[in-house]
Amino acid sequence: MVEEFAFDNAEERRKVRQNGTGWIEVIAGSMFSGKSEELIRRLTRARIARQKVQVFKPGIDARYSVEEIASHSGQKHLSVPVSSTAQMMSQIDDDTQVVGIDEAQFFDMELIAAVNHLAEAGKRVIIAGLDQDYTGKPFEPMPQLLSIAEFITKTHAICVKCGATANYSQRTVESEARVEVGASDKYEARCRRCFVPHADAPTLN
Ligand code: ADP
Ligand code: ZN
Repeated sequence: MVEEFAFDNAEERRKVRQNGTGWIEVIAGSMFSGKSEELIRRLTRARIARQKVQVFKPGIDARYSVEEIASHSGQKHLSVPVSSTAQMMSQIDDDTQVVGIDEAQFFDMELIAAVNHLAEAGKRVIIAGLDQDYTGKPFEPMPQLLSIAEFITKTHAICVKCGATANYSQRTVESEARVEVGASDKYEARCRRCFVPHADAPTLN
């Protein structure tokens, strides 16, 4: 049986359990909003419930470790780095009940069909990812994943400028590459008012 997972809507949870399929949960938000923490929390609870869990992340994100997903607050969970959706799919065992995916914005567009397939095969798929790039544009394949998910959690950070709810990842180093891997050395959380949709000077004050 599935565990008591994060979303609160008991009615939807009951329905999804009844028909016996799997489903997709997406955790989306800006950097520092707690996506990895929330993903790790759900995966830990699934493991406590003795479910078979497999976790993947793109090989591109060598932020802290190549074999773990890590939150900015230091929580960790084992994961397997993969360079493509196909590589991930070839490693998923038939008897796996829960598939976790972090940094989904760095995956290819094949991820959309793949997670649908996993959910149809009865698996619970939990996906975390940045929903916008550093310019504020939707970060594919997150928009598509949000569309097909049964359950969506939007997480928010705190604006480092003013303390308001932050929905944006402000780049603080000069680079126009869409993918510029980093953490607080290259990005900070900003609200709608404080965000500027291009690289901004570092906050030194
Ligand atoms: P994400 O995966 O969304 O980047 P993480 O789960 O890795 O986020 O990290 C969330 C943690 O980051 C918070 O619990 C907090 O300890 C820390 N943190 C650092 N800066 C901020 C900020 N500006 N707003 C909120 N949390 C922050
Ligand atoms: Zn602000």
